[in-house]
Amino acid sequence: VDLLGADMNEELYSTLKSKFGFNQFRHRQKQCILSTLMGHDTFVLMPTGAGKSLCYQLPAVILPGVTVVVSPLRSLIEDQKMKMKELGIGCEALTADLTASAHEEIYSDLSSENPTIKLLYVTPEKISASGRLSSVFYTLHRRGLLARFVIDEAHCVSQWGHDFRPDYTKLNTLREKYNNPPVPIIALTATATPKIVTDARDHLKMQDSKLFISSFVRDNLKYDLIPKAAKSLVNVVEKMKQLYPGKSGIVYCLSRKECETVQMMLTKAGLSAEVYHAGLNDNLRVSVQKSWLANKFDVICATIAFGMGIDKPDVRFVIHYSLPKSIEGYYQETGRAGRDGMPSYCLMLYSYHDSIRLRRMIEEGNTTTGVRSMHLNNVLQVVAYCENVSVCRRKMLVEHFGEVYDEQSCRNSKTPCDICERQRKNVEAIRLFDVSTDALSIIQCLPRMQKATLKYISELYRGALIKKTSEQAVRMGHTKLPFYSKGQGMSEQDALRFVRKLVIEGLVHERLYSIPNQTAAVLAYAELTEAGKEVASGRKAAKVYLHIVT
Ligand code: ADP
Ligand code: ZN
Repeated sequence: VDLLGADMNEELYSTLKSKFGFNQFRHRQKQCILSTLMGHDTFVLMPTGAGKSLCYQLPAVILPGVTVVVSPLRSLIEDQKMKMKELGIGCEALTADLTASAHEEIYSDLSSENPTIKLLYVTPEKISASGRLSSVFYTLHRRGLLARFVIDEAHCVSQWGHDFRPDYTKLNTLREKYNNPPVPIIALTATATPKIVTDARDHLKMQDSKLFISSFVRDNLKYDLIPKAAKSLVNVVEKMKQLYPGKSGIVYCLSRKECETVQMMLTKAGLSAEVYHAGLNDNLRVSVQKSWLANKFDVICATIAFGMGIDKPDVRFVIHYSLPKSIEGYYQETGRAGRDGMPSYCLMLYSYHDSIRLRRMIEEGNTTTGVRSMHLNNVLQVVAYCENVSVCRRKMLVEHFGEVYDEQSCRNSKTPCDICERQRKNVEAIRLFDVSTDALSIIQCLPRMQKATLKYISELYRGALIKKTSEQAVRMGHTKLPFYSKGQGMSEQDALRFVRKLVIEGLVHERLYSIPNQTAAVLAYAELTEAGKEVASGRKAAKVYLHIVT
C-alpha cells in the first residue's frame, strides 16, 4: 500500500466517515494513524476526551489482520466493545469473567481462515497467563495477521506513574515474542510526564517510536485554590448551586471515611450528596452512578478511584477536599469537569496538614523504598503547586506534561486561574523576596533544636510565640538563636510559607511520628536533609526566594 499517496488519504477519510461517522480528524489523530500504519512504533500522549481510541480503531478497520488491545479495566473494555459492535466492527474481549465456551469461540474465530474479529481487547494478565492465547497469537503472526499491539493506559507500565500495575510489566515480552517481522506497537495514555513516557517506551522496547502529544490545556476550566477552613466547602457548593442550577460536581476525599464525613456535612447544610468509593456494593454503585448521570443530587463525594470509566459530560465543578496524590492525579481528576467544553470550576481546598496525612499513608504502605520516595516526591510537587502564589496554575499543570505554555493565554482568557486573575487586577501585588540569609540562619540552627515543628520555627522567626510555647522557648534558649524574631514584619501565613519553602526546596525534611493511642494524629518534626546539611556547613550555597502577596 502506498501509505502517503492520495488513495490512502482518501481511504482514511472515507473510513472515518463511513465507519465512525466523523467528517474531520481531530488534533493529531491523522498523524498518529499514519505513523502506526507505516509500521512505526507510536506513542500517543493526549488528554482524556481527545479521541485516542480512533488512532488504533481506524487502522484496525483499514488493514487486514487482528489488532490486539491491552486495556486494564473490564469496564473500559466492555464500553469499547459495545461501541465497536454498534459501529459494525468485529470486536471481542477476553476478560476473566468469560466462560470456557466463549473463550473457545473467540479462539476458533482467530484461528479461522478469515477472522471476523478486527479488534481483540484483553486484560494484561490474560496476555501472560494464557498459553493458549500465546499460541493463537503465534499462529496469527506466522500467517501475517497480527496487525498491531495497542497498549492502552500505557502509563501503567511505569513504576513512576501514579497508577503502576505489575501485570503491565509483563508486556515487555511482546516485542521479542513477535519480532519477525516486528508487530508495531501503539501506546496511548492521557497522563504521563516525560520521564514516564521514556520509561514506558523503554519497557515496551518500542523502537524509534514517534511521539504525538496534543495540548493539555483545558481552556474552559477555571483553576482556583483557597485555604481549607471549617465553612469553605459548604460555602463553595452553595455558590456552585447558584451558578449552575440543576447541575452537579465531584468532591474528592482522601478516604472512605472522609467521604462519609463530607456527605454528612453537606447534608446538614441542606445540600444533597452521595458517596462513591470502592467499598460500595455493586447494586449501590450502579444506582449512585445512574442518579449521578441524571443530576439527581448536587455532589458526589468520592475517593480518587471514582471516575475511571464513567464519562459524564456536564460535571460543573471538581473540588479537592483533600490533596491529590500527584500533579498528574490532579490534572486527571480536575479533567473530569467540563468535558462538554462549557465553563467549569476546579477548586483546591488547601491545607498543608493534608500533605502530612497523605505522607503518612504513603509511609505506612508496603512498597519498596524507591516507589515510596517517588510517591513522597509527588506529594511535595503538589505542595509546591499549592504553596505557589506567583506562577499560573495552568502553566504548572500543563508544563508538568512537557508542554510549553505562555501564561499570557491564561491571563487573557475568559477563565483565568486565581493567580492570573489576581495579577490581571494588580500586577504589583506579588513581590519576590530574597530570603536566603534568613533561610541559612534557620538551617544552621535546626540541629540545635529538637522536636521543632514548622509552625514553632515560623513563630520563633516572627518572634511571636504564644505564652506557653514562649516560656518553653526561653528555657531551651531558642529565643537566643540568631534567627529569632528576624521575620517580625511577616504575617503568620507568610512566615509559615517561608519555612515550608525550605521543605519544598529539599533543605528540610519533616519526620513523622505517630502519637500512641491516637491513630489519626501525627507529629512532624523538622530536620535537615543531606542537601540541608551541605548548605548549613557552607559546602554548598542555596538561594531561597519567596513570593509574597502584598
Ligand atoms: P480518549 O480515549 O482520548 O479519552 P475517546 O477515544 O474516548 O477519547 O474519544 C472521545 C470522544 O470523541 C468519543 O466520543 C469519540 O467518539 C469522539 N471522537 C473521536 N474522534 C473524533 C473525531 N475525529 N470527530 C468527532 N468526534 C470524535
Ligand atoms: Zn493562569
